Amino acid sequence: MYYRYGRGETNKQETNILSKKPHILPRDQHPISRKHIGISALKVLNRLKEGGYDSLLVGGCVRDLMLGITPKDFDVTTNASPEQVRSLFKNARLIGRRFRLAHIRFGREVIEVATYRKPPDDDVETSDSGRLLRDNVFGTQQQDAMRRDFTVNALYYDIRDFSVIDYAGGVKDLEHRVIRVIGKAEQRYREDPVRMLRAIRFASKLDFSIAPGTAKPIYLLGGLLNDIPPARMFEEVLKLFHSGYAERTLEMLREYGLFAQLFPQVERYLGSLDNMEHSVLPHALRSTDARIREDKPVTPAFLFAAMLWDELQKHITRLMHNGLPHQQALYMASAEVISEQCRRMVIPRRFSTPMKDIWAMQARFERRRGKQALRLLQHRRFRAAYDFLLLRVLAGEAEQSLADWWTEFQEVSKSKQEAMISALSNKAKGKHRKRKSDKNQ
Ligand code: ATP
Ligand code: MG
Repeated sequence: MYYRYGRGETNKQETNILSKKPHILPRDQHPISRKHIGISALKVLNRLKEGGYDSLLVGGCVRDLMLGITPKDFDVTTNASPEQVRSLFKNARLIGRRFRLAHIRFGREVIEVATYRKPPDDDVETSDSGRLLRDNVFGTQQQDAMRRDFTVNALYYDIRDFSVIDYAGGVKDLEHRVIRVIGKAEQRYREDPVRMLRAIRFASKLDFSIAPGTAKPIYLLGGLLNDIPPARMFEEVLKLFHSGYAERTLEMLREYGLFAQLFPQVERYLGSLDNMEHSVLPHALRSTDARIREDKPVTPAFLFAAMLWDELQKHITRLMHNGLPHQQALYMASAEVISEQCRRMVIPRRFSTPMKDIWAMQARFERRRGKQALRLLQHRRFRAAYDFLLLRVLAGEAEQSLADWWTEFQEVSKSKQEAMISALSNKAKGKHRKRKSDKNQ
């Protein structure tokens, strides 16, 4: 049970939270225990505390711990400057141009330590649409809370007395399962349009609703996402679709009109379908979600291959209609579809190359005679391409019997594989003979 606000206290955190004292939840009024905090994060917290600095967990990890969810990572915040943090830790490195942060490394794990930051004030540098270009001015803890995106992301866990500090009403919003912007939603989205994507990401991941004042401007401001640098956009798209809740995220993004900003080609196609299940996309997202839940690896190449597959088919059809043979049409269509998508976001080559392989291998699944099937099986992306074939079966565009053949072919001995290939030739000969005799009758 969370701390409840007293009678008469309102939920108007959209007002100026600087004028309010924080709500402090002592140890016995919240569920966070040191048992749930990673060892490395605890080391960092304790070292900062011993150094005489403020030392707190903040952001998604406090939110998740309050909800009983295991956090992805732990972010620490302090009043120590990045240089002071570096002098406390041998394993610290200062990073970031836009925000200077300390990264403390423990093997493969990195704990990020950020110095309290101020929200932007009037003389801060912004773009024409109001986007922040620089906001790295250090501030107080309270100011640090103000510049965060949502109330539930602005909770602090203080290692000195194990209390949770809430400046923005995040505890109440956790209790009511609401995502609510801190401050004026429109202004906060103009400062950083990615916050609109984040609202949807958290709402779908946590199964929270979005407060009306936080939701409404999104319908109008989606176009601001055009301004986001393509590399950041790619990162955000991965966070959206590799969250474990990709299917729900797609639905919400479409509902708010944001998906059209991210994948205009795909939105046009999905909008033209009367049944989404005829696209590989929902099947791919479902399978990605399941893999993430089972802790299996996922790759952006597979996600993007599925996103753009239907569009690819349209391009191939057009190019073949114009007289290109299939192979060439596929090659050109892949380049067209990818370059169109790259107007919105970077797709690094290390992902676009395997994407093209997954696409190109689909037609090769049909050609199994002679050495073709064995050669395909040796391909380093066979597994991803085969998984993709299974999605095409679910979408009703490839034969179940073809997928079954490949499922069996991977599992049997060499001699059985050869037998499977000759059986194909015999079957083909049989068909040919039957056609001939039908004709002669
Ligand atoms: P996740 O569980 O996905 O890591 P998170 O809330 O920790 O979620 P991060 O991107 O790791 O998200 O950011 C850490 C914290 O930094 C957030 O909780 C929020 O307080 C703040 N933050 C991150 N991005 C923004 C932003 N664009 N605008 C304002 N505050 C932000
Ligand atoms: Mg985080």
